Amino acid sequence: MAIFNWSSSRRKFLARGGLFSALAGLSGRRLFAMPGAAKTPARKNIYERLGVRTRINAKVTYTFLTGSLLPPEVARAMEEAAQHYVWLLELQQAVGGKIAQMLGVDAAMVTSGAAGAIMLGTAACVAGKDLERIQRLPDITGMKSEVIIQKSHRNPFDHASRNVGVRLVVVETAEEMENAISEKTAMMYFLNDAQSRGQVGLEKFIEVGKRHGVPTFNDAAADVPPSSHLSDYNKMGFDLVAFSGGKGLRGPQCAGLLLGRKDLIEAALLNNNPHEDSIGRPCKVGKEEIVGMFVALERYLKVDHDAEWKDWEARLGVIEKAVTSVPGVRTSRFVPEIANHVPHLSLQWDETAFQLTKVECARQLEDGEPSIVCLVEDYTQGLSLTPFMMKPGEERIVGRRLKEIFTTARRKAAG
Ligand SMILES: *Cc1c(COP(=O)(O)O)cnc(C)c1O
Repeated sequence: MAIFNWSSSRRKFLARGGLFSALAGLSGRRLFAMPGAAKTPARKNIYERLGVRTRINAKVTYTFLTGSLLPPEVARAMEEAAQHYVWLLELQQAVGGKIAQMLGVDAAMVTSGAAGAIMLGTAACVAGKDLERIQRLPDITGMKSEVIIQKSHRNPFDHASRNVGVRLVVVETAEEMENAISEKTAMMYFLNDAQSRGQVGLEKFIEVGKRHGVPTFNDAAADVPPSSHLSDYNKMGFDLVAFSGGKGLRGPQCAGLLLGRKDLIEAALLNNNPHEDSIGRPCKVGKEEIVGMFVALERYLKVDHDAEWKDWEARLGVIEKAVTSVPGVRTSRFVPEIANHVPHLSLQWDETAFQLTKVECARQLEDGEPSIVCLVEDYTQGLSLTPFMMKPGEERIVGRRLKEIFTTARRKAAG
């Protein structure tokens, strides 16, 4: 079936959106056709009421799959925040100040996700605190109009920077980068998870920016754990760093962090909601998300990350044990170096002997009950999964389902 185009690249976001809505449509119907409903129906959860199927996330933090789940203390804080009026600017300032203190960075603000941080960071570098300029964006006549980026760092999220009206100047070598800098250069844009793909690494990039007085920006959206990353890049010398709030940090899905130089954060705030005539007005972050982001970060800095890592390893062990009980199924483990740097399990089997491709296996996982979404296209290791975003105990369900799928395929293939 054409919609199960699992081999599409990770960056084909539009196609992916289509895939997921198609899947949701298919399986949503099945949910209501389920026989044997209880005589006194239990209260339907909100997704049942909406006819939207819930999934087990054996994948990573993935915005299309709603990122992460809120820890109870974050959900409680958001609920509490929702019950009072405050001046939004006062809340932004207070939370930004506390976050900066917690992380040991100059200044901080809560944005509408890492993408919002990319746009506001760019706006800060282009319009600064100049009210006339702020109101005129994305018309950048007379302002610095270019953002320098390495070819291998181009990514769909650089659209957020282009929203400001700037032109991306694409370079490959350090020499090209130096030559591209002029009085038109507003910002230099680095994509953290592309650091090993680009010819100019972190240190050199920062050094070039500093020498020319051009602000450097690092998009580190999905780059926790480890938690030290939350301040590493600022300490290294980046002027601005962005993180997603709703990925590994497990804050509200529509929140994020912009961390960096005080003057730039002040400028970003002026380009942001609630200022009405500003490019950031559509990037509203409400009191609930601002408070949620703060509490999520507080929690994240307290989490025992070693214990959490061991727990992920143990849960992978549960899945490993279930699947390797089927003769012919092998597993191996790996940890992506940057972004979603957590233990993963890769599954291998003879696809011909089992008459089961990786794509078909993933489809059966997703179509089954409960629906499980794993990784099939992101890594060369084959079909893989991680318990990073699973609820406790879901590893047993995933192990059981995989075992069923492999056992059935094997039996069928044997005739
Ligand atoms: C997820 C992601 C973003 C966008 O983050 P949001 O918090 O969803 O806005 C930007 N850049 C990279 C590299 C990402 O992985």
